[in-house]
Amino acid sequence: MMLERRTILAVDDTVANLDIIVDLLKDFDVIEATGGPEALEIVAEEAIDLILLDIMMPEMDGYTVCRKLKQNEKTKDIPIIFITARTEEDAIEKAYDEGGVDYVTKPFKPKELLARVKIQLEHQEMIEKLEFLASYDAMTGIYNRRKFFELAKRKFAENPDNLYAAMLDIDKFKHINDSYGHAVGDMVIKAVTRVIAENIEPDSIFGRLGGEEFAIICRHSDEVCVVEKLELLRKKVEELKIELVGGELVGCTISEGVAAADASTRTLDELLHRADEMLYKAKGSGRNRTIFRLR
Ligand code: GH3
Ligand code: MG
Ligand code: MG
Repeated sequence: MMLERRTILAVDDTVANLDIIVDLLKDFDVIEATGGPEALEIVAEEAIDLILLDIMMPEMDGYTVCRKLKQNEKTKDIPIIFITARTEEDAIEKAYDEGGVDYVTKPFKPKELLARVKIQLEHQEMIEKLEFLASYDAMTGIYNRRKFFELAKRKFAENPDNLYAAMLDIDKFKHINDSYGHAVGDMVIKAVTRVIAENIEPDSIFGRLGGEEFAIICRHSDEVCVVEKLELLRKKVEELKIELVGGELVGCTISEGVAAADASTRTLDELLHRADEMLYKAKGSGRNRTIFRLR
């Protein structure tokens, strides 16, 4: 995202100060707030990338605003630059202790403030890039193992009711690599990923756990529904044909193990483990099939 498209919230009880900041940051999208409570309301409703926060304000001081934002999972990562007339060392120390990333004293030098704002926005952009790289599998573009577990655990913690886990694994994939080479193997993994991604519900969590092994966490009204859905995926993969340069068609099948969460399921790992056991059964009983276990 271009830096100019970023939204900055400026909080100060003196309107004249806000006017100066708005003018200085005219290339950015700036929202103004004249008090702490108003600032908190705005942050709850808008996507804010950076906050410029005054400390001395009548209703709620800047430290308190900062503390409240840092305590909230949704707002804790928004960088906060304190802009204040207070210059004592203890006030500066407290600002950093509360979670501020920078501290500018009033009257501020406009070019300095602008430079500090840009640095923080660049940091944010870098963090977002790293977060992306750390979350998606480079080859297939779906969630990697780390992100899959993070999201799946969150979904399980929110509500395990009607939650299902499926483990999927390409059958005899080693044979594809051995027969056609690793590059074709990669094409098969990508094609299988695409077919599955196109045929699951948008709120499902779909990740590549490693090699040719995938997992899905999804919510369905009942087990008939979930098995139907997984059988559909299995058939779609079975129909898939990848054309090689010479015109030869390569296909593959997948095996699937499914488990349902119930009142006795304590952790996501336990649920996935049960799905994995069913996958093992699917492999042992001939492959290219879905095996479901209720509990
Ligand atoms: P099964 O039906 O029991 O699952 O047999 P399989 O051959 O699919 O399973 P196995 O686990 O024995 O072999 C998986 C192979 O997948 C071994 C590994 O070299 C290969 N593999 C792992 N990751 C990749 C990858 O990213 N690309 C390619 N081309 N091959 C990979
Ligand atoms: Mg396999
Ligand atoms: Mg495997």
